[in-house]
Amino acid sequence: MADAALKTSAAGDVAIRIEGLNKWYGEFHVLKNIDLQVAKGERIVICGPSGSGKSTLIRCINRLEQHQQGRIVVNGVELTDNLKNIDTIRSDVGMVFQHFNLFPHLSVLDNCTLAPIWVKKQPRAQAEATARRFLERVRIGEQAHKYPGQLSGGQQQRVAIARALCMNPSIMLFDEPTSALDPEMVKEVLDTMIDLAREGMTMLCVTHEMGFARAVADRVIFMDAGEIVEQNTPEAFFGNPQSERGRQFLSQIL
Ligand code: ADP
Ligand code: MG
Repeated sequence: MADAALKTSAAGDVAIRIEGLNKWYGEFHVLKNIDLQVAKGERIVICGPSGSGKSTLIRCINRLEQHQQGRIVVNGVELTDNLKNIDTIRSDVGMVFQHFNLFPHLSVLDNCTLAPIWVKKQPRAQAEATARRFLERVRIGEQAHKYPGQLSGGQQQRVAIARALCMNPSIMLFDEPTSALDPEMVKEVLDTMIDLAREGMTMLCVTHEMGFARAVADRVIFMDAGEIVEQNTPEAFFGNPQSERGRQFLSQIL
């Protein structure tokens, strides 16, 4: 859907534009007047207490949840009821969840080729070549024939990242990708995400991993009770949060 307001000279540099976003679950006001603009290539970390609306916000960006008020525009396409727009946006936005969400009855390779073959109509040979390349990139190429249940949590999460990359997204959303992992597996997943960030991927990551945020985030967004309470560079936010709620949150996770 063409949008005259976005056809400014800067429009090409904007990956995600969220304006006046409000969402309710029934009576519960879960997202309150969210305004957020993400530039192409920008890396954003979203943190905040449990229940503050972080997952809901990023799930709205690829329409896993619907908003009731405001606008979400991804790469110049507005999210509305228009199914074509939703498909366009989903094919451009990869998502990685806390619990991997791999298909347990498919091999690692088939997990990675399913959507490219069935959604993007790629020939199997091409989809497999791409999948093997990304599996190599997340350092798991030798596991391609295995089933998810035969892998560790960290390996499964790296498969989930490779699977998302196989769709050639321009934006990656991560929802607490390391919080279900045993501590010794957190680093291998964060290292994969750091590689991706250094290659210039536009990323929104819900995570409380401060080391990751400090290494790659251009901006940290702190949410509480459905609002963006403050946003700043990782150094400024973690070093000297401006809000009382931010200070309280950091004192709990540090
Ligand atoms: P976070 O990811 O920051 O922990 P969520 O976005 O998951 O927060 O949830 C925000 C609030 O919305 C929570 O109070 C949660 O209980 C509520 N919530 C989340 N999903 C639903 C849903 N499908 N229906 C009703 N309430 C929900
Ligand atoms: Mg969440």
